Amino acid sequence: MPMSSDPLQSVALTAMARVATDFETDARVPMNPHPDVIVIGAGIIGATCAWRLSQAGLKVTVLERSATGSEASQAALGVLTFHARPQFPEPLLVLCRHSREYYPSVIDELAEVTGERVDYREAGQLMVAPFDADLPELEEAERANRELGLEVERASPEEVRLLEPHLNPDLASALYYPGDAWVDNTALTFAIVKAAQSAGARIERANVTSIEMGNGRAGGVQAGGETYQSEWIVLAAGCWSGQIPGVPDLPVVPRRGQAFAVEGALIRRVVHSPRAYMVPKGDIQTMLGATVEDVGFDTANTLGGLRDIASKSLEMSAKLESCTFDGAWAGLRPGTPDEIPVIGPFEQIPNLIVASGHFRNGILLAPLTARLVRDHLTGSDPVPDLAPFSPNRAALRRA
Ligand SMILES: Cc1cc2nc3c(=O)[nH]c(=O)nc-3n(C[C@H](O)[C@H](O)[C@H](O)COP(=O)(O)OP(=O)(O)OC[C@H]3O[C@@H](n4cnc5c(N)ncnc54)[C@H](O)[C@@H]3O)c2cc1C
Repeated sequence: MPMSSDPLQSVALTAMARVATDFETDARVPMNPHPDVIVIGAGIIGATCAWRLSQAGLKVTVLERSATGSEASQAALGVLTFHARPQFPEPLLVLCRHSREYYPSVIDELAEVTGERVDYREAGQLMVAPFDADLPELEEAERANRELGLEVERASPEEVRLLEPHLNPDLASALYYPGDAWVDNTALTFAIVKAAQSAGARIERANVTSIEMGNGRAGGVQAGGETYQSEWIVLAAGCWSGQIPGVPDLPVVPRRGQAFAVEGALIRRVVHSPRAYMVPKGDIQTMLGATVEDVGFDTANTLGGLRDIASKSLEMSAKLESCTFDGAWAGLRPGTPDEIPVIGPFEQIPNLIVASGHFRNGILLAPLTARLVRDHLTGSDPVPDLAPFSPNRAALRRA
């Protein structure tokens, strides 16, 4: 099959009303001891892969040890953005850009399948410089985005006041990204789980304890005392993907993100500075985040983490001082050494496909990741070139 050069073709919870809804095994979908595909993990990545693979006519069983969508996919803030930063790796930018383009059609498709529309808003994003010292970073971001032909505008203090009246009036400068969006990632993940089940995927509560290898193939998985066998295995276990016995060396590591919310929508669109994000959750909350910490698999909230977010957010809006605290949470982003996700098969085990390591962009990247995994498994023409995202790439070991 020809290879395309187009990267697209070729390319704890501690509080809150963030209650994990458990869309577990759908009785309508019969047990299948020999599915075509086993997907490990039902976060947004595994669920979206299961949906697209089921739609393609494959028999899919998802093994999830906890409630569906209850880990990083629920902790996210739902920001859909892909702006160029000098340190932003190009393959990641290409992925983000194309995945962002799918969002409106994915939201429409989910509404058709589930009968409910996920809250998705194309309200743009403001990047603000609270201090003069932040101006070089803002200018660099503007230049990098213009060079790539991405939509970006300078916003005057008057324009910022009109767009977001509750921001501090003395901000040094601001950029406006009109094409950015926000999605309710919790509702989205659950809608995708429902859609996957409607398409025939079976979701089972099972903790995968090992992947069985033999003759250069992943023969099956062990979970809850059972052996599951399939032609393909999709490893979408988030930051735990490299921990499952049998998986070859896979440097996907947990990077904790803490966040908290205050009551009321103080802002209408996503606002961020070089140090913090403020994100309106529908019309009910303003979410503030997020830390990036290397503390292993610890999903606790710490006073230091929350203080850090609060002080950096106050640089953008002093109005936050009088807002009512509405809960805090933390989640583990699946990080990689080069900050590029891992999508594709191990060279030495071609039927073990990784879909992990999406770090800060897993919500944004889920639609395209699932498409790439589906196209790889179904042998689309042209087959996607997954080399930049390979689990065997040198940068994963060198970085
Ligand atoms: C505070 C915070 C803010 C964020 N904000 C954004 C944002 O604004 N935009 C964005 O795009 N991204 C954001 N992210 C990143 C995003 O949340 C992640 O990249 C994404 O959720 C990863 O999805 P996943 O499905 O790979 O992992 P997860 O959601 O963690 O799912 C992995 C699943 O695998 C299951 N699992 C693990 N091991 C096993 C096993 N052995 N057997 C069975 N099941 C197993 C787990 O129980 C879990 O359900 C944010 C993350 C955090 C923490």
